[in-house]
Amino acid sequence: MAHEHLSGILQPLPEKIKLPQTQEHNQLNDQLYNNLPVAIYTCDRLGYITSFNKAAEKLWGRSPEIGKDLWCGSWKIFNPDGEPLLLDDCPMARTLKEGVAIEGEEIIIERPDGTRVNVQPCPVPLFDEQGHLSGAVNTLIDVTEQRIGEAKQAMLAAIIESSEDAIVSKTLNGIITSWNDAAKQMFGYEDREIVGKSVTLLIPGDRQQEEQVILGKIRSGKRVEHYETIRVTKNGAEIPVSLTISPIKNTKGRIIGASKIVRNIVRQKTAEESLQRYADNLEALNDVGKAISGSLDVQEILQRVIDTTTQITGASCGAFFYNQLNENEESIMLYVLSGQQKETLKQFIIPNNVTEFPSAFNVEHIIRVDDVTKYPEYHTNTPFHSMAAGYLPVASYMAIPVISKSGKIVGGLFYGHPKPAKFTKAHESLVAGIANHAGITLDNAKLYEQVQKLNAKKDEFIGLASHELKTPITSLSGYLQIINKRLPDNDQNKSFIEKALLQIGKLSGLLSDLLDVSKIETGQLPLTYSSFEFRHLIQEVIEQMQYSTKSHRIVLQQEIGPLIISADKQRIEQVLINLISNAIKYSPEADQVNVKVVLNDNSVRVMVQDFGLGISQDQWEHIFSRFYRVEELASHISGLGIGLYICKEIVNRHQGELWVESTPGKGSVFFFEIPVN
Ligand code: ADP
Repeated sequence: MAHEHLSGILQPLPEKIKLPQTQEHNQLNDQLYNNLPVAIYTCDRLGYITSFNKAAEKLWGRSPEIGKDLWCGSWKIFNPDGEPLLLDDCPMARTLKEGVAIEGEEIIIERPDGTRVNVQPCPVPLFDEQGHLSGAVNTLIDVTEQRIGEAKQAMLAAIIESSEDAIVSKTLNGIITSWNDAAKQMFGYEDREIVGKSVTLLIPGDRQQEEQVILGKIRSGKRVEHYETIRVTKNGAEIPVSLTISPIKNTKGRIIGASKIVRNIVRQKTAEESLQRYADNLEALNDVGKAISGSLDVQEILQRVIDTTTQITGASCGAFFYNQLNENEESIMLYVLSGQQKETLKQFIIPNNVTEFPSAFNVEHIIRVDDVTKYPEYHTNTPFHSMAAGYLPVASYMAIPVISKSGKIVGGLFYGHPKPAKFTKAHESLVAGIANHAGITLDNAKLYEQVQKLNAKKDEFIGLASHELKTPITSLSGYLQIINKRLPDNDQNKSFIEKALLQIGKLSGLLSDLLDVSKIETGQLPLTYSSFEFRHLIQEVIEQMQYSTKSHRIVLQQEIGPLIISADKQRIEQVLINLISNAIKYSPEADQVNVKVVLNDNSVRVMVQDFGLGISQDQWEHIFSRFYRVEELASHISGLGIGLYICKEIVNRHQGELWVESTPGKGSVFFFEIPVN
């Protein structure tokens, strides 16, 4: 570097920085100058650069030409606001022009490679011994890092202040050290009220231990992310928050505190909760809809409706009162209760199924009251139109009438809660909807009950009538048999008597079937088990049937070996007779009925096949119902429609199965299978 220039320039330095002018000292000066970590350069009186050190060269990113470059070695310079600055106006130029030192200014230097540095120049004028300006020395202090740091700091501060989340820093002992604007909004404390205080001020009493757990994690260098909890504001309100806490480290990497981001998730929680509530309500509605539509049991409907609606409305107690007629056609009131306060409610309600209820349980239109205790009638002896207000710890109250299809009020739904304003308009319409549905379903249940009662009466009549008819028919048959025996063999009247006996036999068979039906209905069809040879039974029945049938051949197509089974022989015989006589009856154009017996591992199967009218598939399951007949046939083939019903019951009672396969116009096969052991 050009130290010949420097030695000339350094001469006029003020006394205190003047160095002795020996050879060694000059060398020392040069070295010192060159290797100083601060950029330094000199200009002569006219502004031409006379020397510069390594640090200056590095700062400029170039080497200026000694004696040629003016004012400074920078490629380009700018004001701190980014405006270009003429070299003629740079601080060094001004010092030389005005003969004064400049301090505290800042410029930006752009290097030839485009990079920029923030620099604080400190040009100082130099004077010769006569006091004439001889040049100037300039030190350039690089403040780029500092400026970047400051910019970062400012940005961070702006982010923190504009954040919607509360950002709080604290020491490792949980003492709050900073508090942003959002924290102020969220918790209600001013900086001065909270900085320096313990963060536990923000934690509800029952969650204080959380802080130790959080600090423990922070001390071990871990982050706590999206921790959902509750925090408390200055006025004591509890808010749901999500916390993210990270350790703060000093430049040496030591953990010195924690930064905490607190997000108020009350909106998110409310949205989640209302979504959940909506889904729950929908599910409950769906359940109650399904349950009450599928049920014809009044008590069950009442209970389902009140349980679901009590749950949906959040009521602490609910009651469903329903008017019904008892066996004596008297109006009685049924009621069911639900909710946590069910027991309390029970205490002052009269036993179930009573004819009279207090007027409190008559409701003509929807009533929804936020606080019944505010009503003047409250706690007086006259029952307020509520669930005996004043007796139950109830403030919120809602009553909804249940109306039948005919528009008559048949009952009411009542709900209560000890806190006021618990029931909303939405609850009201939801329950009113269910009440409408319940009104109709209860009507249906009532109709069903009436039909059941009539059915029972009909069954009772059939049972009684067939029983009463049996006795005269038995004596008629007896007398006819006596007359028949007394007539000489060649008497013409004998054939009439035999025909009459045949008809009486048929009549008696019909009566037996009717009696069986009423026995089945009352669950009184007894089975008498015995062991018998199954093969013989089949043969006997076929023989017996063939004896009285002229139109068809009954062919036993496949026989089995000896087989002893345990069953009610008479009833199994009844099934066989029934199936074979049906096969004959419903194949008037055919002349054969086939019977096949197959022995399987654990069961024996009998098939009775005819080549008659057949049955369409949609009728297969119906023909086994009581009094059911395929309509097209009913007009010209006589029958009561009970034979197959009795057969099915007999086979089922033997743990067996009876079914049909058939092709209309071609014929049918009836199968029955019973277990053998
Ligand atoms: P019923 O014969 O007295 O009408 P069942 O209970 O024995 O009563 O039969 C019920 C109905 O099933 C009959 O009315 C008839 O329509 C149909 N059915 C029964 N057996 C046959 C058959 N072998 N072929 C065609 N239809 C039949």
